[in-house]
Order: sequence, then structure tokens, then C-alpha cells
Amino acid sequence: MEERRLILWDIDMTLVNTGAAGQHALIRATIEWFGGEGDLSGVEIAGRTDTSIARQILEKYGKQLTPENVDSFLDRYVALLPEELPKRNGRVLPGVRELLEDLARQRNKTLGLLTGNLERGARLKLGYYDLWHFFPFGAFADDHHDRNALGPCAVDRAATHAGFQFHPEQVDVVGDTGHDINCGKAFGARTIAVATGSWSRERLAECEPDFLFEDLANVDEVKRKLGW
Ligand SMILES: [Mg+2]
Repeated sequence: MEERRLILWDIDMTLVNTGAAGQHALIRATIEWFGGEGDLSGVEIAGRTDTSIARQILEKYGKQLTPENVDSFLDRYVALLPEELPKRNGRVLPGVRELLEDLARQRNKTLGLLTGNLERGARLKLGYYDLWHFFPFGAFADDHHDRNALGPCAVDRAATHAGFQFHPEQVDVVGDTGHDINCGKAFGARTIAVATGSWSRERLAECEPDFLFEDLANVDEVKRKLGW
């Protein structure tokens, strides 16, 4: 029997570039809470979970980090996101839709999400770009604020969904930051970096992913190199 593979995807700057819709929703939520310009300097966003981002923002503005404050800030962020998505000049990244359509047709491939987005935010972003239906399950910021804890959670959900227990060496993690690579390495998965986000090719290479692509535009080459 052909080898089964579980392929877990990051969202922002790996599947889609939302034109920073998420960041603009965060800035608006920050202005609503704290006034001013919604300055997010010093807050690390790329590759971080939404929960960790919200905690950094509340901390920056001196708000107590109670679960209630974090949840209610994130609720506001999620409420603003649908207004921001159509305002931004976003797009599905090169090769992604073709690759997902191809993989979804292969019976030995299982697709899922491994993302720092809240599930509600992930559904809004991918729904807007008509990609949500490719991903029947995932691990999200709701599951843990530490991204490295999300991998095993995604593998558990894959087992429930596919009725098959994937070993770490049967799992691929695809992402655009060192946080995605580290998250994959943390549970022994094969790691695939794409330099379509804010991390340069050189910076990604320092994290020693198993594969590193400029982008996924050349679908045939990506498939051949990864054995997909
Ligand atoms: Mg990303």
C-alpha cells in the first residue's frame, strides 16, 4: 500500500496573504480598548498564536492578563476581521490552490491545519478565499497558546478524522516562519519552509527545515521533491 501522509498547513503567508487584514483588525481592537493609534511595535505577530499576540498587546498596554481580558480582546478581533478582509488587497499564494486540489484528490493524503489562528479566525480567512473546505480539522490557538504544543494535538485530530494513527515521520508541516519549523521539529515531523512571508530564505535556512522553497508556484517540482 502506498505510504499515507498527513500534511499540516500554516495559514498566513503560507496559504494566503490577507493583505494584513488580521493585523488591521488587531490594531482596531487595540484602538477601541486603549485609544491612541493602536501602536503594536514590539509585538511579535508572524508565526505566533493569536492568544500569544493578544497577551503581548494587553501586557504592552498594562492590562491584566486574566483569561477574561484575553478572551474578550480576541472576541473583538474576530468580530472586526470580516470587515477587514474585503478591504485589503489579499490573495491566495502562488500554486496553493492547485496543490491543494491535487492533494485532496489523492486518497493516501490527509490535509489539516496547524496554525496560530483561532479556529474562528482561520474559518473567516480561509472561507473568504474559498479554501476552508480543504481542511476538515486542525489545531488552533484555541488549543494552546504555545505553538509547539499544537503538533500532537493536530495528529490526534487526524487520527479521529482519518481513523489512522500517523507516526511523526508520516507528517509534513508547511509554514513560512521559524516558529512553524520548530513546531514541526518539536514532534519529529518533516518540515517544509516557504519563503513567501516575512522570514527571508536565509533566516529560514538557519532553522534547518528539511525542505525550503521560494514559493509553491511550481506545483510539479514541489510534488516531485516532496514525494507528494
Ligand atoms: Mg505564517
